[in-house]
Amino acid sequence: MGKIIAIANQKGGVGKTTTCVNLAASMAATRRRVLVIDLDPQGNATMASGVDKYDVERTAYELLVDEIPAREVIITETAGGYHLVAANQDVTAAEIRLLEFFAREIRLRNALAAIREQYDYIFIDCPPSLNLLTVNAMSAADSVIVPMQCEYFALEGLTALVDTISKLVAVVNPNLKIEGILRTMFDHRNRLSNDVSDQLKQHFGDKVYRTVIPRNVRLAEAPSFGTPAMYYDKSSVGAKAYLALAGEILRREEQSAHASA
Ligand code: ADP
Ligand code: MG
Repeated sequence: MGKIIAIANQKGGVGKTTTCVNLAASMAATRRRVLVIDLDPQGNATMASGVDKYDVERTAYELLVDEIPAREVIITETAGGYHLVAANQDVTAAEIRLLEFFAREIRLRNALAAIREQYDYIFIDCPPSLNLLTVNAMSAADSVIVPMQCEYFALEGLTALVDTISKLVAVVNPNLKIEGILRTMFDHRNRLSNDVSDQLKQHFGDKVYRTVIPRNVRLAEAPSFGTPAMYYDKSSVGAKAYLALAGEILRREEQSAHASA
């Protein structure tokens, strides 16, 4: 059954969307069946997948509010080799409309139940806040990947996120785990980055991915060409870093499967 991973951090600009599309493309390139769900009304993951957010018929809004079946909302042609549930400004309205419903926190989980078997991985790109959309993502998810920049105050934000995750575990999703913490836009020459990175490893140990995503201009440029970095410049350090991350996640999963066998 497909593993559902939310990519979340209430801070904006930390690399959530970049991680979502590039990790999804890397997983798809290793022949995994992948679905990306864009839950951010900015629609950046949609555009970065080569899909025009102004020209989509259906988005996460129809999935969450109108209860249109997922298979009728999913776009199967993207530049990343994965399937997509798109987002655009309409999804802002979804956040408000959700308030009308009973069990409003688990609308996404219910919507995905019928199709999750068709995928190996479902990645959810969350908006930069801990709103009802993010809560829906975390209620649907098996685990959360937290991208973060190693800068001053980053650990404080992380504590707030971990608190939220514990509350959700208690209330709506007892199985939710932290999949991993990903250091993004990393600069090895920066002393503060290295200090924060060390603290992160002290606090979170093995939860911190060994793979580090370096600051790389190709990762920033690729979305304007509507494609993940590996199809824009496959030899770039950014594209390679996300392939390495996919490899690390797959290896971890094999190891835990062995350990529990
Ligand atoms: P979020 O989704 O958390 O708001 P984004 O993935 O959109 O963050 O990243 C914020 C900005 O930083 C974007 O312009 C993106 O292209 C750029 N960016 C993200 N990761 C990297 C990286 N590793 N190197 C260089 N630029 C990056
Ligand atoms: Mg984003």
